[in-house]
Amino acid sequence: MNGTKKRIALLGATGSIGTSTLRVLRAMPEAFELVLISAGGGNIPKLAAIAAEFKVPHAVTAAETCLPQLRSQVPAGTTAYAGEGALCDLLSTLDLDLVVSAIVGNAAILPVVAAIGAGCDIALASKEVLVAAGYPVMKLAAEKKVRILPVDSEHSALFQCLEGHSPDNVKKLILTASGGPFRGKSSAEIAGVAWADAMKHPTWSMGPKVTLDSATLMNKALEMVEAHHLFQMSEDRIDVQVHPQSIIHSIVEWRDGNQTALLSVPDMCFPIQYALTLPDRIDTGLKRLDLAQAGCLTFERVDERVFPSLAFARTAMREQGTLAAVMNAANDVAGERFRQGDIALPGIWTIIEKTMSAHQNGKDPTLDEIFAADNWARAYAAAL
Ligand code: NAD
Ligand code: MG
Repeated sequence: MNGTKKRIALLGATGSIGTSTLRVLRAMPEAFELVLISAGGGNIPKLAAIAAEFKVPHAVTAAETCLPQLRSQVPAGTTAYAGEGALCDLLSTLDLDLVVSAIVGNAAILPVVAAIGAGCDIALASKEVLVAAGYPVMKLAAEKKVRILPVDSEHSALFQCLEGHSPDNVKKLILTASGGPFRGKSSAEIAGVAWADAMKHPTWSMGPKVTLDSATLMNKALEMVEAHHLFQMSEDRIDVQVHPQSIIHSIVEWRDGNQTALLSVPDMCFPIQYALTLPDRIDTGLKRLDLAQAGCLTFERVDERVFPSLAFARTAMREQGTLAAVMNAANDVAGERFRQGDIALPGIWTIIEKTMSAHQNGKDPTLDEIFAADNWARAYAAAL
């Protein structure tokens, strides 16, 4: 990497990916300058502490009501702002080199669009952006010649395996899945699980939404659509295999039958760091993989009779339109209803299935059409 510091923004700085990103930045203080941080409402002390530690000039909270608190807690060199509009304005004007998007859910869409509009590369953890709005977002990125660099571990693995190769040589992309806490369970066993059970992920420590999505395998459904957009692959070239050790992060199968995989210990710092330093590879002391110590790597197919999630993604990808946004929105609403104890875990799939069935898919959607489909789906899924 050359001598000048890269100017970066970190959206969702207080979350799980945000915290891992800060770990990566701490290990390379000479390479990056954190110019902007943001977070949702709440957790203002943490946002202010990040501003102080990294001497960040601009800090944004999503909630207007939190602005006085943020203002009173940030250090002298930091200006506090509130609201999505303020965040988007800053992203449009700050002349950044890279925006790391680690906001959970659809709240990431407009900030990412603003950053792309300003010609800024995106390191994208917020998979919901591509699931809901992949068609217009990828189109805009191509127009603006902006790179969408995957941070999701599976997509970072695929990205690294694919580098330097023509997509024509790819037979299929194989996303690996840990299987989550309910792997191997029957439908009857899953019927009565509680929120706390779903929060016990076997290999990754993550925010609550993606942890629940991992338990239902909706995370893998979202990731199939994410891969569809990132790598421009049709639904029949995207596959999933369960790999409980989470050491192989994904696999490219080539036309000649060879496969290339990417391996590391499960730590999100690996894909985050690569998105920040590529094409360079820097030794920042991350834990090394010792395959002899790992012992054995195992694989199995997803039991789709128990976990019907992947079929939703295949349908959404075949339809190529607003249906994936509807799947994503219904999943949000159903997940929240499960958290509140309003429905059982399998009710999540029922709600997604019914909402998707009731939707009139719109092809080649604009951002506005996507937001309209999303709003419709949220209302529909809430009323079921
Ligand atoms: P998290 O819940 O730990 O953190 C979410 C962050 O988003 C927080 O900083 C929160 O303040 C911020 N936020 C929430 N609502 C907001 C709003 N309305 N406006 C602005 N900011 C808001 O989530 P996470 O686990 O870090 O996941 C973030 C994203 O990364 C998700 O899309 C997830 O699917 C993806 N991801 C996470 C992991 C992981 O290991 N955690 C791995 C792969 C992909
Ligand atoms: Mg992932």
